[in-house]
Amino acid sequence: MGLLDGRIAIITGAASPRGLGRATAQLFAEHGATVVITDLDSAQAQATAVDLPGNSHFGIGGNVCDQGNCVRVAQATLQAFGRIDILVNNAGITQPLKLMEIAPENYDAVTDVNLRGTLYMSQAVIPAMRTQKSGSIVNMSSVSAQRGGGIFGGPHYSAAKAGVLGLTKAMARELAPDNVRANAICPGFIATDITAGKLTDDMRAQVLAGIPMGRAGTAQDVAGCALFLASNLSSYCTGTEVDVNGGSLIH
Ligand code: NAD
Repeated sequence: MGLLDGRIAIITGAASPRGLGRATAQLFAEHGATVVITDLDSAQAQATAVDLPGNSHFGIGGNVCDQGNCVRVAQATLQAFGRIDILVNNAGITQPLKLMEIAPENYDAVTDVNLRGTLYMSQAVIPAMRTQKSGSIVNMSSVSAQRGGGIFGGPHYSAAKAGVLGLTKAMARELAPDNVRANAICPGFIATDITAGKLTDDMRAQVLAGIPMGRAGTAQDVAGCALFLASNLSSYCTGTEVDVNGGSLIH
């Protein structure tokens, strides 16, 4: 028996091979979920879905900043499976800029993907979840939201991820009467490709020195938390922010 047997899950930004979304899709599929992978590149999204254990998963290309696209992803899921039980708003980008270096296009890009995308994709699935009277939305925030950056992302990334926390809590409050839950995960330093080789050895050593557990997190560490929040194990948790950071921020 899997924790997500028969559940239908949409995961955004899940085609990055070493990413948190991909690892979450894998774990959800291992626990019996049918997963819809969405990411910018359609072929990559489809290939990722085919790779998951089980054969009903599918991939669909598109940008979470585009409201019409988010609706299209939700509609395709409903058409195929008739319900949406889980949404993981994982798509995100970051940029290592200092405060005075943030140009309007940097602000737009980072807040659009991380925050606007989370809102639009949630809006696309909420009507179905409300009708079902059940659903779980899991939003990827960051330790950067809680401590004002410090790893890689600039202040605009911290602000966008803090926005995700506020949005999560407000969604939790508004959706709770319909038994739709919303929670956020705040990962610390996780080894993925989001830093795209831009992290120097010095930066890495400095970050590791600040982690009591003495290691970077793995994508699987975050996926385990997403599984908990997506499943009935967390049935009375809503509006929470769960830290997955090896002790790097204890508060
Ligand atoms: P990643 O770069 O490996 O994966 C992110 C994915 O999002 C990519 O596949 C990318 O194509 C996709 N994406 C980007 N813009 C998109 C858009 N507009 N529409 C749809 N998809 C889009 O990154 P990751 O490390 O796996 O990060 C996943 C999430 O976790 C992000 O929200 C990130 O901010 C957050 N996070 C990561 C870390 C970390 O240390 N890796 C820490 C805290 C939070």
